[in-house]
Amino acid sequence: MASSTKQIDAPPPGATAQNQLAQNQVPPLTGYNLFLADRTLTQAIDREGAVWAREQLTELGRLLGTEEAQRWGFDANENLPVLHTHDVYGNRRDEVVFHPSYHQLMRTSVENRLHSLPLVESKKGAHVARAALLMLTAQNEAGHTCPISMTFSAVAALRAEPELARQWEPKIVSRVYDPGFAPAEEKQGALLGMGMTEKQGGSDVRANTTRAERIGGSREYLITGHKWFCSAPMCDAFLVLAQTPKGITCFLLPRWTPTGERNAFYIQRLKDKLGNRSNASSEVEFAQAWAHLVGEEGRGVQTIIEMVNHTRLDCAIAAAALMRQALLQAVHHARFRSAFGKLLIEQPLMRNVLADLAIESEAATLLMLRLASSFDRRETDERERAFCRVATAVSKYWLCKRSPVHVGEALECLGGNGYVEESIMPRLYREAPLYSIWEGSGNVICLDVLRALAKEPVAGEALIAELKSTSGADKRLDAYVARLDHQLISKAGNGPLHGYGAAEYSARELTEKLAFALQASLLVRHSSPEIAEAFMSSRLEGQHGQNFGTLPANVTVASILDSLPAL
Ligand SMILES: Cc1cc2nc3c(=O)[nH]c(=O)nc-3n(C[C@H](O)[C@H](O)[C@H](O)COP(=O)(O)OP(=O)(O)OC[C@H]3O[C@@H](n4cnc5c(N)ncnc54)[C@H](O)[C@@H]3O)c2cc1C
Repeated sequence: MASSTKQIDAPPPGATAQNQLAQNQVPPLTGYNLFLADRTLTQAIDREGAVWAREQLTELGRLLGTEEAQRWGFDANENLPVLHTHDVYGNRRDEVVFHPSYHQLMRTSVENRLHSLPLVESKKGAHVARAALLMLTAQNEAGHTCPISMTFSAVAALRAEPELARQWEPKIVSRVYDPGFAPAEEKQGALLGMGMTEKQGGSDVRANTTRAERIGGSREYLITGHKWFCSAPMCDAFLVLAQTPKGITCFLLPRWTPTGERNAFYIQRLKDKLGNRSNASSEVEFAQAWAHLVGEEGRGVQTIIEMVNHTRLDCAIAAAALMRQALLQAVHHARFRSAFGKLLIEQPLMRNVLADLAIESEAATLLMLRLASSFDRRETDERERAFCRVATAVSKYWLCKRSPVHVGEALECLGGNGYVEESIMPRLYREAPLYSIWEGSGNVICLDVLRALAKEPVAGEALIAELKSTSGADKRLDAYVARLDHQLISKAGNGPLHGYGAAEYSARELTEKLAFALQASLLVRHSSPEIAEAFMSSRLEGQHGQNFGTLPANVTVASILDSLPAL
């Protein structure tokens, strides 16, 4: 493939014609279909019975690959949300104003039901279909998917309060994006957020000091306190945790009270944050804000955990999406850019790097899709429920830890251009580490893996059963799984996991091994023999260095790279 050269006809005064030539630069990666270009995704849709979503995926994949939709992502990140605490007369306003491109992104995602598909669609594979839609969207612009994800996830927790769910769900599942700031009854669609983290404690929500006082004998309360992080504060309502005399409790706190007044929800300031910049994240205070109880008083963590589990799934999906987009950008660049007399993609060491990134991306996509399928199946299959319990934590931890490293390597493939804002790479790079802190940071998630294994032995059994389903396909994988099985049994049976004190120290190591084994087993089942073999020899056999681009010599890099789409 030839490199591209752009000629500008009339150089400005003083410039030489030579300076106006963009020689050996790469054509922009635009005008492609993100879905059709992704074989792992298209195959998964067929395999999981979600063929019914193909048309929608194809259309969204096309739209998001257009220059116009790519521009939305850039504009929404270059024109940051603005907080208006007061109006000109000094009245509280507490509104955030977004760029029109942000609204366009939100509208596209809501119309595509990224915030609700499995809630309204009873066909097979609805979670997998939604995961694929989110995978496409997060490659284009991930910031706005925060409120989309929270809205989707909140419903699972909201259903602990059936009357409230009955009132809110029709607005939540609506296909109309309605950004107006008005009581939800007056709107055509509603979005939900979440407020758990306080200044004195985020992971340890038991440290929450925000208090809820009951109004008479009802299920209505007045909440006073703060949240140190509250993303997407223009959502219509929030699931928040607050203390009652019975302990931490979950509430639904809307922006407007049932009597049609602005609730006492005060946005103090917006966070100036690393990534996710198109989306607003705020600090808020509540001064006797009206809220409705969700679930049982004193069991707030148990109530909100269903929301948390769904957002963890979305973190895994988004992490895989960032890796995929970074890979596409890197390979595209290497196919057009020459150095030292050859295209970069012909340089042996670059081939090692790109193939290694491709293996990681494929393993990530397969893992998040398998997780999504367990969300589909867990309602009717007890083993899938148990698998989902532990696989959510394993996948969330591993993919969110891998994506910053992966994206960081991929941007170097673009040379200096990868560090310049006009390429999408800096945005991907800033976004990647956030998924690791959200919804349970790295350590907290690994401790959750231990908790799942110790408290629900069926979860470990389901995981091992899944791994053994590929028994006989590869001796290295069989041996790896046998060692893991032994490790889990001995820990669960003899103590450390059974109270998991001592096991805490090694929780990351165990989680990492479980993730490796799951990815290897999925690659054996669903990927090309070349990629599966490369994963085994590099990741399972340990013939791999600390960085990408350290694949051993036996890997058939040519077939791995040839399988990537030429865009
Ligand atoms: C951009 C952004 C948006 C956010 N949006 C929201 C939101 O909308 N709603 C919301 O509720 N929160 C939100 N958060 C907050 C986020 O969920 C918390 O930051 C996170 O849960 C960690 O809490 P913390 O900041 O209090 O850190 P801490 O809980 O103090 O943790 C600090 C470190 O200690 C580690 N650690 C904690 N406990 C243990 C342990 N037992 N063993 C070993 N290590 C441990 C953690 O892994 C972490 O690395 C947002 C954060 C960011 C960055």
